[in-house]
Amino acid sequence: MNIILLGAPGSGKGTLSEFLCEKNAFTQLSTGDLFRDNISNKTDLGIEAQKYMNEGKLVPDSVTNSMVEKYLESKAKDLIFDGFPRTSDQASALDDMLAKINDQIDKVVYLDIDESVLLGRLTGRLICKVCKRSFHKVNRKPLKEGICDFDGGELITRPDDQEDKIKTRLEAYNTQTAPLIEFYKDKIIKVDADNCTPEELYNSVIEVLGA
Ligand code: ADP
Repeated sequence: MNIILLGAPGSGKGTLSEFLCEKNAFTQLSTGDLFRDNISNKTDLGIEAQKYMNEGKLVPDSVTNSMVEKYLESKAKDLIFDGFPRTSDQASALDDMLAKINDQIDKVVYLDIDESVLLGRLTGRLICKVCKRSFHKVNRKPLKEGICDFDGGELITRPDDQEDKIKTRLEAYNTQTAPLIEFYKDKIIKVDADNCTPEELYNSVIEVLGA
């Protein structure tokens, strides 16, 4: 089963993917993580993507689509698409890429959340440099300050988790990504992502997916 997680930045896509991969053997394809890996490795793709990411803007579709197509050549089973597609061009390209390998998207989980809670979530977010898991300065504190509970990696604040960048990202979400709710209307499952712990969100998603 291939699933897309659709939702605003900070709606919990990454943490939910983490749970689904650990407990249900899905494989996460996070375009944000792939871009950040490319930035760390100083690849040409990373250098190009960084210009947009640092501003909170979307990386151009052509760059993003070819990165995903390349990824799908090696892995294409039980995928969770986290942060892709984010535009209608990307959604059409994904349909074509999957059709070529006789595959498809089965469900789209839309994490519905009130915009007012997103700013607090994102400004307090901490990411493990090694495994990319998210923590939060207040809501999901690591056992030891600044250190990942899972692998001892350093916890950092993402450069785009600053208030001005967050505003640009939310605007990009509202104008370019939210229209995908209509694009996927036959496959969409809406889940309330407000006021729930990551475990509660995971349980509701598993229930609606019947996974
Ligand atoms: P979040 O969901 O919190 O915004 P991501 O890690 O998914 O975090 O994305 C971070 C940034 O990476 C985005 O703001 C954008 O610059 C870039 N990015 C990630 N996925 C895409 C995509 N599908 N299309 C274009 N840009 C993307």
